[in-house]
Amino acid sequence: MAWINLAAWIPCTEVEGPGKRAAIWVQGCNKRCKGCCNPHYLAFEERKLIEASELANNILDAAKKYDLEGVTFLGGEPLLQAQGLAVVATMVKAVGLSVMVFSGYTVKELYGLDLTGTKELLANTDVLVDGVYDSSKPDTQRQWVGSTNQTFNYLTNFYDASIESTQRIQREVELRISTAGKIMINGWPSL
Ligand code: SF4
Repeated sequence: MAWINLAAWIPCTEVEGPGKRAAIWVQGCNKRCKGCCNPHYLAFEERKLIEASELANNILDAAKKYDLEGVTFLGGEPLLQAQGLAVVATMVKAVGLSVMVFSGYTVKELYGLDLTGTKELLANTDVLVDGVYDSSKPDTQRQWVGSTNQTFNYLTNFYDASIESTQRIQREVELRISTAGKIMINGWPSL
């Protein structure tokens, strides 16, 4: 049984990858990029432990409800929880959803580190956006990335580089206010 230490998830968003997607943020990252969007997701502490297949089933329910195109894994560092996320990715790929992953590790680093579950997760990933956020190299041209050093790696034919460019004048964020008054903002703010 594989478990995921979940920081947050949204069943349907339109600002974390192509089309309508579920977004999964995992807890814990060992990078410390200046200007990281999610500093509260960096500590290696227990947030919400969820069994991977349960999370996958929640996403599959959301996919039916919202007609999702895919799921995006963000962090924190998804590759540090590759074993559990590989289970989720395999289950959602089986019904035709796409999988997008944002990692602070480059592909080269990932193959060198051989973190548990990496091969299985990457085998079920359509596009891997890799590299740390470098605030000295802001990217104002491509969607969803923060800095020009970050690379889109197309691991299947599901997507191609056309997804990176935006027809929109500004990149977008979403703002959610819960019934308890908690505010959540996601997406990459314009620079
Ligand atoms: S790799 Fe990503 S989550 Fe980790 S510190 Fe850098 S920007 Fe934040």
